[in-house]
Amino acid sequence: MVINAMERIIKDLLDEYKNRLYLHCTCDECLDDILALTLNKTLPRYVTKEENITYIKANFVDKQELTSLLVKLAECAKIVSNRPICHNT
Ligand SMILES: [Zn+2]
Repeated sequence: MVINAMERIIKDLLDEYKNRLYLHCTCDECLDDILALTLNKTLPRYVTKEENITYIKANFVDKQELTSLLVKLAECAKIVSNRPICHNT
């Protein structure tokens, strides 16, 4: 099994911060779109074991990297919010 650890890490971030990202729409479609967009701008970190995600999160994602991930997330949230792919808004 190959997992991109960043996928989980960014998904967690998005869950945590979605209320502070001024999203016009928070449906699953839009959240997935934000996640995909952010991941495309982020270097993947592949792991072969589920438990290694926690290791990566603890040891490789420092405060500075977390901040830049959040900036990317906010940028992508803005792009999706301005042009939602769903028809809820
Ligand atoms: Zn939506």
